[in-house]
Amino acid sequence: MTSPPPRVTEPDPSAARAPGLVGPCAGCQRPTHKYGAGGRPLCQWCMDPVVARYGSTVRYVSAR
Ligand SMILES: [Zn+2]
Repeated sequence: MTSPPPRVTEPDPSAARAPGLVGPCAGCQRPTHKYGAGGRPLCQWCMDPVVARYGSTVRYVSAR
């Protein structure tokens, strides 16, 4: 949570766990597990502020 995100060229760790289900993060375009926990198309670094703001129960958040 406190560690800074790596460069967007680095895939999200979730991508390595889901070969064949990798797609660009909706936030930063880094390769990430497209249908990860809750079906969120966000890498963990984009997900953290969303969770902090809306809570972990949020299922989908518009980019804007
Ligand atoms: Zn991202």
